[in-house]
Amino acid sequence: MGETCRVALVTGAGKGIGRAVALELGRRGMAVAVNYNRSEKEAWKVTEEINSLGRRAFSFQADVSDAASVKDLFAAVNEKLGPVSVLINNSGITRDGLLLRMKDDDWRSVLDVNLSSVFYCSREALRFMAKARWGRIINVSSVVALCGNVGQANYTAAKAGIIGLTKTIAREFGPRGITANVVAPGFIETDMTNALKEEVRQNLLRQVPLGRPGTPADVASLVGFLASEEAGYVSGQTIAVDGGMSMQ
Ligand code: NAP
Repeated sequence: MGETCRVALVTGAGKGIGRAVALELGRRGMAVAVNYNRSEKEAWKVTEEINSLGRRAFSFQADVSDAASVKDLFAAVNEKLGPVSVLINNSGITRDGLLLRMKDDDWRSVLDVNLSSVFYCSREALRFMAKARWGRIINVSSVVALCGNVGQANYTAAKAGIIGLTKTIAREFGPRGITANVVAPGFIETDMTNALKEEVRQNLLRQVPLGRPGTPADVASLVGFLASEEAGYVSGQTIAVDGGMSMQ
């Protein structure tokens, strides 16, 4: 089957990195399911842009931290576009705070949105992919999962959890022709990082050998490759897109 016939689902695709990924997969000829939670108008605009490339796209509201909503999301995508064979788990939130002051709710919500969502969505997608004996799962983690970060106990735990989960998917489903990989962005210009104080931004930039923040498109081009036929022998890997920030 060529990339043209494939159906991709991108979670949190109304803005930021998810938006750039959805557009990249559309450009590569896939039909795209654009998931959003709150950014309805933005998600609709993304589908318009993909449609203008001559590709099918629809937007689907779902809170991916809720297993029942995820089930409904996959049923809706299946009905409108067909079975998902490329899944990009991109949705994420931060609720930063020093560990001793971190509220249970901030711990739980960050784990739910960033990590449990990957389990719920992958479980649904893998049913289709296993039958088709082909699939691509690409999970968006973060470089902070690799080295920790002050004030992000919840976020680093969730993003590191994604790496272990991805490796298990790669092992359990490799025999069915399914690959699973992690993309770990560094400092990328989106609403998430626009919220940072100027001093924090400058401090982060000093750690980037390439000397500039990344763009959502920088991340999307790697995701596009990992979703392609050409990446069929790459699995269980974590690849940083961070301008060299996290190199050892
Ligand atoms: P962003 O612009 O804030 O986008 C976050 C996305 O997550 C939004 O599309 C949002 O959808 C979605 N989302 C949040 N809660 C959701 C839920 N319950 N259900 C479904 N979708 C939900 O930030 P971004 O930078 O593009 O982040 C994308 C991913 O990259 C995240 O996983 C983030 O952790 C990761 N990342 C970002 C950076 C960076 O420097 N920007 C670095 C490392 C990793 P709605 O707006 O529709 O609610």
